[in-house]
Formats: sequence, structure tokens, C-alpha cells
Amino acid sequence: MAYNYNPGTLQILPIGGVGEFGMNATLYRYNDTALIVDAGVMFPDTDQPGVNLIVPDYTVLNEIGVSRLIAAAVITHGHEDHIGGVPFLCHDLGRDMEIYGTRLTCGFIRKRMEEHTFEHQVNLHEAAAGDTLSFGEIKVHLLRVTHSIVDCVSLVIESPAGTAFHTGDFKVDQTPIDGKNFDFAGFAEWGRKGINVLLSDSTNIAKEGYTLSERTVGDSLQEIIESSRQKVIVACFSSHIHRIQQIVNIAKELNRRVILLGRSLENAMAVARQLGYLKMPAGVMANKEEIRDIPEHRLIVITTGSQGEPMSALSRIARGETKQVEIYPGDTIIISAKTIPGNEKSVMRIINSLYRMEADVHYEEISEVHVSGHASREELKLVFSLLMPHNFVPIHGDRMQLVHHAGLAKEMGLKRRRILIVDSGDILELTDDRIRKIDSIEINRRFIEGDRFEELEDIALRDRRRLSEDGLIVVTLIVDEQSAELIGEVEVITRGFLLLSDDEAEMVQIRDRVRRRFSEMKRKERLNWEVVRPKIRSTLRSYFRKRMNSFPVILPIILTVPGGKRK
Ligand SMILES: [Zn+2]
Ligand SMILES: [Zn+2]
Repeated sequence: MAYNYNPGTLQILPIGGVGEFGMNATLYRYNDTALIVDAGVMFPDTDQPGVNLIVPDYTVLNEIGVSRLIAAAVITHGHEDHIGGVPFLCHDLGRDMEIYGTRLTCGFIRKRMEEHTFEHQVNLHEAAAGDTLSFGEIKVHLLRVTHSIVDCVSLVIESPAGTAFHTGDFKVDQTPIDGKNFDFAGFAEWGRKGINVLLSDSTNIAKEGYTLSERTVGDSLQEIIESSRQKVIVACFSSHIHRIQQIVNIAKELNRRVILLGRSLENAMAVARQLGYLKMPAGVMANKEEIRDIPEHRLIVITTGSQGEPMSALSRIARGETKQVEIYPGDTIIISAKTIPGNEKSVMRIINSLYRMEADVHYEEISEVHVSGHASREELKLVFSLLMPHNFVPIHGDRMQLVHHAGLAKEMGLKRRRILIVDSGDILELTDDRIRKIDSIEINRRFIEGDRFEELEDIALRDRRRLSEDGLIVVTLIVDEQSAELIGEVEVITRGFLLLSDDEAEMVQIRDRVRRRFSEMKRKERLNWEVVRPKIRSTLRSYFRKRMNSFPVILPIILTVPGGKRK
């Protein structure tokens, strides 16, 4: 496992986003010029409590000596799994970065950078679909695609060693809300010129047919909202400008007023409005403060929290914790988003509590209140036909999706040896119209916590999981400094053990174990907490494992008091 570059080849190194969902980032290199395409984050599962984000450890690029060659990062669109890692990229490379993206993408990156206090910043360069950017001997052409966020592009990466086509995220929406159409002609033209390798979005490979147009959601939303006699709450992703635009249009038509609830939503809408991506008819938007003055049947609340995030506006509404918005029987709640795998439980919890409040709930499984932003099989085939790539690397998906997408490429007539299924860290080389894997490097992940961007060790993650599942045991020992004997009773405090804390016999057992273990130690050991702590911990760990097959976090506290004190 080593880094290697053969001069005169186009090197492609996926940093994230293959074999996993999120954290999309790919390095392209031709001789002494390198580019990063996208720099995204991954959102943690529920078994990683306390972790807000996961990002690749970009310091590996310093270690392999590529960092100084990176001319810029080119970003395909403004979704978190493509832009969220930009601040960390600058931080890890230890310098300001040149970033290229469309206007809205740059707007969202600017906002993201404001939320960080890192030393290194970005120089944003706005580009538009149809533009060509030059970096050394690499040229990057931007082609317009449609997706669940506006101003989204695919990239043609042209080098003397060959041309790669990097789709980014896309669907083929022939009736986009903003009327800015998918660039079929551009795709076909590049197909004619020759695409040596295609890297294409695999998200919806399992879906047959075509992904429906965003407009169909507007029709369903209109129907639902029209039939409501009370207030309507719609939860969706804050970056889904077209979805929000449609809700605003419906509000206008049905003479309702719209209130935005949730900080990320307000931020995203401010950026979109400011840059002219959102058209707000006069008199539709209202402030949160006006909410009491608007009759319930005239109100639409747009909120965040479609993934059941516990601190989001929708969760708080469903728990009855917000004063501004209360649920009354007959209110309509629309969850206008796909539930990301891993979040099902949290979303179901919200839906159940809303039903308990006798609200009318619409969500993807039962109503047509969401369509995907990613291409289904027929659209993936269409793009494949337009581009006629000579080699293929599926990206943006877990292993299963990549394998299925590889299968589709075979169906489209590509030879097996011209298809590569890759992992992050694999080093690919394009030369003489062939793609091959030459080696791989290890790319670590970083766990980012809270607003402080602390990196957590794996062990901390594990402890947090145990805390939430198996609880906490705090054992306090007081030791006489002179005699090295225990003073008084061993104190045991438990949290998260409902049965145990009431079970006196069990508590006696635990105290005895600790006392016995302590008395087995040598005198010198007993006064050294670095020795006592792990020994007490391992004793209790095996006790809990054998007794109840549980793995609580065990926290021994050893207090020494000056000698001579009586028991
Ligand atoms: Zn996307
Ligand atoms: Zn994506």
C-alpha cells in the first residue's frame, strides 16, 4: 500500500463516497496539477451518539505529497455530502483554498465557512454551466444537470491523458421548476468527442424506470393542502429550494401565509433569496412573531426535521415543546422527504406521536409528497447512451449500489474489464483509453463533535454508545494514604440500570468484588490510581459481562486522604 503516480496519466483517487453514503470527494491529478472534486460530509448513524459529522482525514494528501499540487476544489452542487467538508479540507491542507462552483453552491459554501473558526479560508470563484475552467493542463467543463437542489453541474475533466466525465448527483427532470433544462446536447457532444471514463451517480440504481419530475410533488402537495381546513406543516430539507418554491406558490394560490421554522432552513432561504433563486410573491411570507395573528386555516409552516433529528423544529412540535406551533386534532403534517437509512426509527417516533395528537400525517410511503433527486435505472441508461464511455467507475453509493450500477454498464455493452468497482483510497490510472487500479492508500475518517469540531477517538465513540445502551457505573474508593487501606464503604452509583440500583443484593456483590480486588493488590499498587483504576474496571467489566451480558461504562474514582484518619 503506497502512493504512486505514473507521469503522463490521469490519476483518479476517490477520497470518499464509494462504498459508503456521503462524504463525496475525489482527487484528479495530471502530472503536477491536481484538483479535488467535491468535499462532503457524512452524517452519523444512531450508533454514533454525540457525533455530528464524519469527514475524511485530508491530511493524508500532505503525507503523500499531493497537497502542494492541488490547484483548486471544484464543487458540483450545494448539498452537504458535497460541500460540508470544505472547511476541513482547508484546515487539513493548512492553507486557503481556491474553490469553484456555481453561484448558489458558492453561496452555501460561504455560509458554511462562516460557521467555522478555522484559520484557513476559501477564495470562492463563481462559475456557470457552460463554462470551462483551466488548471495547468487540466480543463474542466461544466454541464447543467437537474437534481434536488438548483444550479447543479456535471464535470468533464479533460487532460492530455484522456477525458473523465464526473456526473455529480443528477436526475433527468424534463420539466424543472426553474425552467433550466438538463444539458442533453452537451452530454451528446461530449459523447461524440469521446469519454474515456465515466464516473456516475449510483444512488437510485435499484429503482426501475424514471424518477418523477419535481412538479408531480407540487401537484400532490397542492391537493393535500387544498383539502385541509386547518394549519399545514411541511417538513423538508432546507436546501430543497424548488420544493420550498412550490409550497410558497401553493400558499399564494390558496391564500395562505408561510412561516419558516428552523435555523438551517432560514439560513438556506436567506442565501437562495439573496442570490435570486427563490421568488417570493409579496405578502406570502410571514415572521415567526406574526404566527399568533394568522388564522390557523391560513397558515403553512415549513420546518426542518424530516429525518427525525431530536432537536429539530418538527421533533419539538411533535413533543409539544414549542409555544409558537401547537398541534390540534385535524392539523395536517407533511413529511416531504425521503427517510435516510438509519433514521427510520426516529421518523416513525415522530409520525406516531403526531397521530397520537390526532393530526393527519402524510409521508412518502403513503402519499406522493416526495420524489428523489437521483436518476433511476432508465435515466442512468440514457446518460450512458449519450456519453458512450469507454470505461466506467460507479460512484456515490454503497458497495451494493456500485455493484448493481456496474451490472447496468455491462448490460449497456461495456466489457467487464472496462468496469472498476472501487473503494475510497484506491488509486486509479487512466492511460491509453484504459482505466486500472494501480495501488491504494488508507484514508482515515474524523468524527466531528458539536460546534467545537473536536475529533473523537474511536474509543470515545464506543463509550458513548455504551453509555446510551448499557449505562454508567461510578465506583468511589477512599484510600488512606498512609496505611493504603480503604476507608469506609465503597460507593457505587449507577445510571441507566433500572433494575440494578434497586437490587440491594446485587449492589452488595459489586461492593464486595471491588473490595476484594483492592485487597489483592500490593500496598504500593493501591496508592497508584493508574494501577487501581484499570484493575477495578476490568473486575467489574467481567462481572457485568457474565452476570447480565452488558457492557456499561465503568468509572472508578479513587480519592486518597492524608494518613492517620480513623475509619
Ligand atoms: Zn445532491
Ligand atoms: Zn450527493
